[in-house]
Amino acid sequence: MTVSAVIAIDGPAAAGKGTLARRLAEYYGFAYLDTGLLYRAVGRRLLDQGGDPGHVEAATEAARSLAPEALENPALRNDETASAASQVAVIPQVREALLQFQQRFAASPPGDAPGAVIDGRDIGTVVCPGTPYKLFVTASIEERAERRLKELRERGIESIHGRVLQEMKDRDARDSQRDIAPLAKSEDALLIDTTEMDPEKVFSVALDHLSTQGLAPPQSRP
Ligand code: C5P
Repeated sequence: MTVSAVIAIDGPAAAGKGTLARRLAEYYGFAYLDTGLLYRAVGRRLLDQGGDPGHVEAATEAARSLAPEALENPALRNDETASAASQVAVIPQVREALLQFQQRFAASPPGDAPGAVIDGRDIGTVVCPGTPYKLFVTASIEERAERRLKELRERGIESIHGRVLQEMKDRDARDSQRDIAPLAKSEDALLIDTTEMDPEKVFSVALDHLSTQGLAPPQSRP
């Protein structure tokens, strides 16, 4: 059986994980999974039901019955959903249900892809700790808040800098301080601080590392 290659990318919100993950997936011909969307879909379902994202039974039920179509909802990208996502993400039963989904994706990426790029908070530490291809992408909180503001503005949503910054700080704190699978750099992950880097540079730093780790470029794979 061919073992699928997994590139694990972790880091806080708006650090550049998604941009890098998509580029790597395209370059290597791998499938891409944004695991934040799974937590967002669970959080969104509770908000839509008028419930509390901290409700253990309802959140667990939502995670266990998550349908792939739920990941297409445009409302998953707003900050209200992001905040609900980080609340359901502290519930062990929710993480357990989503862990199985993520590990299945890693073991058999859709579309017969030879590998997967998976981004999130605990991919290198909990979901795929055995992969040698690990990156931890971060940037200063000010830079991340700036990027988030710009993204919101481009989507026609006017926001206040101070509020975006505070929401990001709150979410960072919840994600790094929770007991189970907190946001953390795996010891063997390469740290990439993107504060002063453009996406091109981030991509080339990542490619260098992955090739040093033995990941063959796409053309030399059978
Ligand atoms: O990456 P994104 O900002 O979409 O993630 C939303 C929230 O989902 C995060 O703030 C975090 O609480 C949670 N999450 C997680 N573990 C992951 C991915 C996301 O706890 N692997």
